[in-house]
Amino acid sequence: MKGRIVVCKEYGKPFEIEEYDVPTPEPGAVLLRMTQAGICGSDLHVWRGDQVNVPLPATGRVMGHEGTGVVAQLGQGITTDTLGTPIKEGDRVVYSAVFPCYHCHLCLRGDTNWCVNRTYPTAGVYPYFTGTYADYLYLPTRHPFFRVPDELPDELLGPVNCAMGTVTTGMLRAGAGEGDTVVIMGAGGLGLHATG
Ligand SMILES: [Zn+2]
Ligand SMILES: [Zn+2]
Repeated sequence: MKGRIVVCKEYGKPFEIEEYDVPTPEPGAVLLRMTQAGICGSDLHVWRGDQVNVPLPATGRVMGHEGTGVVAQLGQGITTDTLGTPIKEGDRVVYSAVFPCYHCHLCLRGDTNWCVNRTYPTAGVYPYFTGTYADYLYLPTRHPFFRVPDELPDELLGPVNCAMGTVTTGMLRAGAGEGDTVVIMGAGGLGLHATG
């Protein structure tokens, strides 16, 4: 079975669509069929070439990190999500947008978003489906993912793992709670979620 991914080959130029064989998940891994993907400000920075400390791979960068999907195939041994909720093919899930190493000093103290070994998805490298602008997404072993409660509508799910998660974490770290008065600077994806 083949699937498509979106690749940035050159800054500021139209994306290219590439086809790869869809991998069978290894034990502990999960294959998602993507249903939504968001355009995050970070995606625009990648496309514009603003990330000067992250060079564009020769084969191109796989695009998209915000999104949601349904379980297409579960790797051997996976019967629940990361919180222990039973999971099966076809279930809607959200998942962490960051793919850290889980063994560097920053990962071990819980700051997985600052992982020193964090890599950025390179086109043509197994498991190929490493971005959300794609037919499928491959979640490697131990990657956090969560079954979505039935009462949540589809249209809320796409931004959960980046825009909503980022601003929620910011609010929590700032100690902002219900009833507090705060100033939201900017009405982009994060600002809109902060006011929602
Ligand atoms: Zn993002
Ligand atoms: Zn790490």
